[in-house]
Amino acid sequence: MARGSARQGRPRVVVIGSGFGGLFATRALAKTRVDITLIDRTTQHLFQPLLYQVATGILSEGEIAPSTRNILKKQRNTRVQLGEVTGIDLAARTVTAVSSSGTTVTEYDELIVAAGSVTSYFGNDHFAPFAPGLKTIDDALELRGRIFGAFEMAEVETDPVERDAWMTFVVVGAGPTGVEMAGQIAELAHRSLRGNFDAIDPKDARIILIDAAPAPLGTFGHKLSAKAAKQIGDLGVELWLNTSIADVDSRGVVVRDKQGVETRIDAKVAMWSAGVGTTPLAKMLAEQIGQEVDRRGRVAVEPDLTLAGHPEVHVVGDMGTRDNLPGVAQVAIQGGRYSADQISRKLSGKAPNAPFKYKDKGSLATVARFRAVAEVGPIRTAGFIAWCLWLGVHLLYLVGFKNRVTTLFHWAVSFVGSTRSERAATLPVWPTDK
Ligand SMILES: Cc1cc2nc3c(=O)[nH]c(=O)nc-3n(C[C@H](O)[C@H](O)[C@H](O)COP(=O)(O)OP(=O)(O)OC[C@H]3O[C@@H](n4cnc5c(N)ncnc54)[C@H](O)[C@@H]3O)c2cc1C
Repeated sequence: MARGSARQGRPRVVVIGSGFGGLFATRALAKTRVDITLIDRTTQHLFQPLLYQVATGILSEGEIAPSTRNILKKQRNTRVQLGEVTGIDLAARTVTAVSSSGTTVTEYDELIVAAGSVTSYFGNDHFAPFAPGLKTIDDALELRGRIFGAFEMAEVETDPVERDAWMTFVVVGAGPTGVEMAGQIAELAHRSLRGNFDAIDPKDARIILIDAAPAPLGTFGHKLSAKAAKQIGDLGVELWLNTSIADVDSRGVVVRDKQGVETRIDAKVAMWSAGVGTTPLAKMLAEQIGQEVDRRGRVAVEPDLTLAGHPEVHVVGDMGTRDNLPGVAQVAIQGGRYSADQISRKLSGKAPNAPFKYKDKGSLATVARFRAVAEVGPIRTAGFIAWCLWLGVHLLYLVGFKNRVTTLFHWAVSFVGSTRSERAATLPVWPTDK
């Protein structure tokens, strides 16, 4: 019998998404007598927290995105299916997915939906071609091409104004991803690309980190945020706070300060890490139960992470909202495991668990080499120790022994040495204004 195919009487579980929530839920069901179909539009389990290292040439895409099929190859009750889920019918209990080979409709007895979130431009989707977000491997490789490509363009540019625009990098959003990106572009310019060019000095690059908030890494509290701001400044990154984005086009960005004064920054590379928004699937679920998604596009879930009126539908990770939990990996992992356990208990006739309770293991954000901030229990620290903690935790959660070993090697190359091993990129076709 084919792996995961429905056996007489065995409950059918469909899992949407092979990210943190979906993969950890699927693994937690390995010993449960169910037949699982895991559907994702990609073939990988993506470790999003390290995407910025792919974008800046430290790691290869394979190191942070191992094949889901390979991870689950020994899990006999699971079938992995590539497909974009376009429909969930709560009444008929079916999931519709499309791929190049056609459309499938899969019936379920229990459904786990863990489809994550998308980049939000707050209603300004026309910014997207000029300032890509960082959510997928494609995004990371596109940004890698733009960042390394911009230095190449500057090298051959003869007009000094244009050259400055190629050497100006704007990062929108001073949360963890924006800070990491700005920090790594600064390291590239100041350390890694040293001696690589003849006509330009990469050190002349301008890196501007912009946020509408009054401080970077605001969720870390005043003290750590101030330390991060200092670390960012020490790297030579310009921090433009209390500043919003009025427009983005092929020549750069227009920013607006608190007084409403607008300034144009000529920059050929911009990236967006300012917002998280609705996945169509969250909206689809909310509509079917007569609700609306919240401001960030999440669907509300019951205390046991199920959908109101649908105890067979479990929503985990970034897509769902309960107690305003943050959109972080641990919420998705713990939610996925909890939902798997609820399903196992239900099927074996056991009483359900108490409501889901998130165990906060702390927060970490890295600024650049040897610089990070950490908040773990009562400990608040910034600098080298926080950075080591960050390295250890990220290595621990990377899936696959080989990936951990090669990642460690590439970190040594980039952080102890100064080069970047993963600079290969397809040069982008730079977007033009319509
Ligand atoms: C750049 C970046 C950096 C981050 N850094 C950190 C960090 O340092 N620490 C931290 O804790 N968290 C971090 N996060 C957040 C963390 O990665 C997310 O909270 C976590 O991935 C959420 O897990 P999830 O399972 O809900 O969704 P995801 O991990 O996003 O997985 C969703 C899956 O669903 C699939 N999918 C979506 N729609 C469909 C569809 N229609 N059909 C089929 N498949 C679909 C996607 O392909 C994906 O595989 C970061 C996120 C990003 C983007």
